[in-house]
Amino acid sequence: MKSIQANPHVDDIVMPENLRVGLIVAEQRKKCKTVGCAFDYYSFAFGQSPFHVPPPLVKALAANAHQGHYSAAEGIVELRTAIAGFNKRHFALDVDPARIVVGSGTKDLIFTIFTMITGHVIIPSPSWIGYYPQCKLLGKDFHTFYLRPEDNYRIQPDRLDHYLMGLAAEKSQHLLVLNNPHNPTGVVYSKDELSAIAEVCRRHEVLILADEIYALSTYNIDEFTSMGSIYPEGTYVTNGLSKDRSAGGYRLGSCILPETSSDKLAKDFAKVAATVYTNVSTPTQYAAITAYEPNQEIEEYFFITRAIHRMMGHYMSDGFNQIAGIRATRPQGAFYFYADFNELAEKLKNNGIKTSNELGASLLGHPQHIATVTGDAVMLKPDNFGARIAFVDYDGRAAFEDFRDNPPQTQPDEIKFVEKHGVKMIQGIKALQEYVGKL
Ligand code: PLP
Repeated sequence: MKSIQANPHVDDIVMPENLRVGLIVAEQRKKCKTVGCAFDYYSFAFGQSPFHVPPPLVKALAANAHQGHYSAAEGIVELRTAIAGFNKRHFALDVDPARIVVGSGTKDLIFTIFTMITGHVIIPSPSWIGYYPQCKLLGKDFHTFYLRPEDNYRIQPDRLDHYLMGLAAEKSQHLLVLNNPHNPTGVVYSKDELSAIAEVCRRHEVLILADEIYALSTYNIDEFTSMGSIYPEGTYVTNGLSKDRSAGGYRLGSCILPETSSDKLAKDFAKVAATVYTNVSTPTQYAAITAYEPNQEIEEYFFITRAIHRMMGHYMSDGFNQIAGIRATRPQGAFYFYADFNELAEKLKNNGIKTSNELGASLLGHPQHIATVTGDAVMLKPDNFGARIAFVDYDGRAAFEDFRDNPPQTQPDEIKFVEKHGVKMIQGIKALQEYVGKL
């Protein structure tokens, strides 16, 4: 046999940039530990929660290891009921468990949604790295809606309205991706902004995929509103255990289906899930009930982790903004911000760096070793110099325990806290300053 032919859509995608760069950093660090080396990497690429899985969830997983049977494709009813209760308590979303389905992480749920609906996907840029490779793999058409720095990277309803008018000739269904809090900018939309966006979508009959995986990592939690409460008839709401409960490896996410045709959508979902993977791991589903039912320890965990994300995010964003030529967003939630390098465009070009992809490679190169996610991966235009910065490179358990035992009371306390725990990331700011200085 000479070769095996792959589906051309598979050749269209590449290993996600955050994982590719993350692996380079992990490999490098392994080598550093064993043979000793003169340099290490500043890791701003891989966006994983640095914290431990909440202990009640760990215990619940061990206690349910015996649940070896297959289970319902849409998720066990006890879990879907617990998720409904959780949504009601945290997001004032009163949803029948029949409208909730469970998947192997939200990435899997988003892929299933893209598979199940016809029409085109609209992805705001800069974007999380996950949506557009899935569209490519499925051969699904997508449009890019470019967010503008002068709008603070927020979707402006009138611009969206104008954009959707331009797409009307396609006569197809459209699904707008609305990631809130937003990876990579850290933007959180107010209730009024969401209402105005929903109004535009309602008028154009556009569906929304509300990716709310960072909802409970909104620093001021009172600022968060779920799109599911504003536009229930047209919104898929996805969320899961990966970020606010630091259990990305458990692979468990949930989706609230739109009210419109929800019975049919739920049946279709179960059919597709049963055809593709049968069910999400049964022990994980039983364990996850604990993560969604009321639990004081997990509530405290949310409080502590979101406070630490806020302190780290604000310190790091301020640090980036102090570097001449870089403009960083100030995150309101999640653990990323977006750094705009365009003021340095001339200098970058004079140094042979002509695209945002090349900026990523150059930052990662010797001697600065700054790992970020840039360019195509975040759906930037080639000549738009920007980078996603994840600020999670610290010992999450140590920071968590320190905060729990000795919570910072004042602004100077908070700075001391970051300077104690975020040493490596702060060194990364210095490395970036040197890089910019040498351009
Ligand atoms: N959506 C966004 C915006 C993300 O940042 C991520 C993970 O990085 C995901 C979805 C996927 O999360 P999950 O682990 O639930 O698949």
